[in-house]
Amino acid sequence: MSAPTGTAAVVLHAGAGSIGAELRECEQECRAALAEALGAASALLHDGGDALDAVRAAVTVMEDFPLFNSGRGAALCTDGSAQLSAALMRGSDRAAGAVAGISHTQNPIAAAGAVLQSEQVLMIAAGADERAAAAGLAQQPNEYFVTARQQARLQSSVDPDRGTVGAVCLDAKGVLAAGTSTGGVRAQPPGRVGDSPLIGAGTWADGRVAVSCTGDGEAFIRTGAARQIAMQVEFGTPIRVAVERALVDVATLGANGGIIALDAEGVPAMVFGTAAMPRALWRAGSEPSIWVAP
Ligand code: ASP
Repeated sequence: MSAPTGTAAVVLHAGAGSIGAELRECEQECRAALAEALGAASALLHDGGDALDAVRAAVTVMEDFPLFNSGRGAALCTDGSAQLSAALMRGSDRAAGAVAGISHTQNPIAAAGAVLQSEQVLMIAAGADERAAAAGLAQQPNEYFVTARQQARLQSSVDPDRGTVGAVCLDAKGVLAAGTSTGGVRAQPPGRVGDSPLIGAGTWADGRVAVSCTGDGEAFIRTGAARQIAMQVEFGTPIRVAVERALVDVATLGANGGIIALDAEGVPAMVFGTAAMPRALWRAGSEPSIWVAP
């Protein structure tokens, strides 16, 4: 199914979670980061760029913003290290690449892109960083990702305002793409992997829909959330209903989160069961919209 020129669209999220004092205090900075990410993706699409490149551009901006839980500023493991995961998928041919538990590649979404170019789909830890380095991607000591803010949060018991990031894009040729990037959850045991880098759980794109999830990762894995939405859309369920049903399924496991999705007509869905999910939307010919809290 291909969309006519002019239906290009971008939807972003920066994690489903609570509205802590911090989110209120940093609302303007978060809004500016989302605007920059939206601008990077929409400029590419406006100029005829690919959905996959637009997703990568938006997620890269959000990874570099230290208040989101991805790239620099990611949530920390119990041992104080940052372990990063990301996935990227193109709907037209279901090309997919993902990395889990990496420690050195400056932009995990770029590492996922390097895997997407290869025969593999998912690479982990040192082997994934080595693949990214071999592809010429910038490497950093793990301390680069560790911010004083996240070190303080590791010691605190405040509710997580999670901050995982994701993007779904539709280009003028009708191709959909999705990407998600995360540091996981605060104080996770080293080696824990959530849904974000798992194709079909936290990230998915096919010819009909692109999906990026955020929230209690184990429940998104156990419900096959992203793929379940795609199946529903395939059988004719409107995208928003499909997303709501997937979140209901997550809730039946006692878990919570949020999902962004985009269909091949450019119809977006942004649904969350948490207090907030910073998010942004751009559609060709329309003004961008950005929501931080709620
Ligand atoms: N889903 C992510 C994970 O479980 C966390 C999040 O979205 O906040 O690692």
